[in-house]
Amino acid sequence: MYKLVVFPEKCHGCGNCVVSCPVNAKDPNTWGGKGPETDELVIRVVDGLITIVNGDLCGGCGACVEVCPVDAIKLVVEKQ
Ligand code: SF4
Ligand code: SF4
Repeated sequence: MYKLVVFPEKCHGCGNCVVSCPVNAKDPNTWGGKGPETDELVIRVVDGLITIVNGDLCGGCGACVEVCPVDAIKLVVEKQ
């Protein structure tokens, strides 16, 4: 199992991660970086900083990690 970890102090709010996430993409209103006001998202930009909305929905694909230019997102292996 992978756990999503974010580092808001590094984030500059570009929104790359929000639009790259395939779970977020199920909602057609995921655009412009922020993401819609729903709990069916993994991540959203809130007040300019990356925020985990519902980490349980994350499938661990790593797309958000790849597109973040400042390494503000990591996937860590969780011990069972
Ligand atoms: S690892 Fe994949 S599913 Fe999880 S938040 Fe990032 S892009 Fe979305
Ligand atoms: S976590 Fe990275 S990709 Fe996501 S909004 Fe912040 S800087 Fe952009």
